[in-house]
Amino acid sequence: MHKQPTNGENYYDYICIIDFEATCEEGNQPEFTHEIIEFPIVLLNTRTLEIEDTFQRYVKPEINPRLSEFCINLTGISQALVDKADDFPKVLQHAIEWMEQKELGSKYSYSILTDGSWDMSKFLNIQCRVNRLRYPSFAKKWINIRKAYGNFYKMPRSQTKLSSMLENLGMDYDGRPHSGLDDSKNIARIAIRMLQDGCELRVNERLHGGLLLSVSSSTPIEGAPAPQMPKLR
Ligand code: AMP
Ligand code: MG
Ligand code: MG
Repeated sequence: MHKQPTNGENYYDYICIIDFEATCEEGNQPEFTHEIIEFPIVLLNTRTLEIEDTFQRYVKPEINPRLSEFCINLTGISQALVDKADDFPKVLQHAIEWMEQKELGSKYSYSILTDGSWDMSKFLNIQCRVNRLRYPSFAKKWINIRKAYGNFYKMPRSQTKLSSMLENLGMDYDGRPHSGLDDSKNIARIAIRMLQDGCELRVNERLHGGLLLSVSSSTPIEGAPAPQMPKLR
């Protein structure tokens, strides 16, 4: 059972920021099958605005087990790191157990937040197909911070890349760009600032039958369900 919001206090207790890194080749070929190689989660407490904990695991890709030079340089993830990592289903299981320990979707309400639509609608969606897993229910809705940022600060889409959002808020990137965990932490810094500025970050996108859909801002706030390992297709 997931926590139903109660009146007055109906905001998510936590936001889970997830920024996947994936195998890639130079030039972003559309037919390339991206596989997730880093799975980070940053746990943001929406009352204290503090990052309470982080999760990070690397993932061994199966279709393209050799990382391209381009990918290694982009993400800073070495061949050795992915070689010794677990495969995606195992890492997803670890991530779910970590979220269960945090009592997300049971004692505490939460929402996933990402930088753009691709983390869920593309990377997780493709990865689940590769592993013949059903798409996980808990990841079917999320807050796309680019969209929320553009609406709240009245900025065009061209100003909603991670680097631009930080720059427009007068912040410097902290860490290594395209490290999934560092990206997630920097996205969290933007989310914190937006909450401080009075933006009620709320679910604005969802995946339905493999299709990316918008969620209207008039939809009542409802936390995501407790995470569960998806069944095989
Ligand atoms: P990001 O969260 O921006 O670090 O990007 C997530 C993933 O998208 C990366 O791990 C790559 O697989 C892919 N990606 C990002 N930028 C590029 C790029 N310039 N060229 C090719 N793939 C990219
Ligand atoms: Mg990203
Ligand atoms: Mg990233």
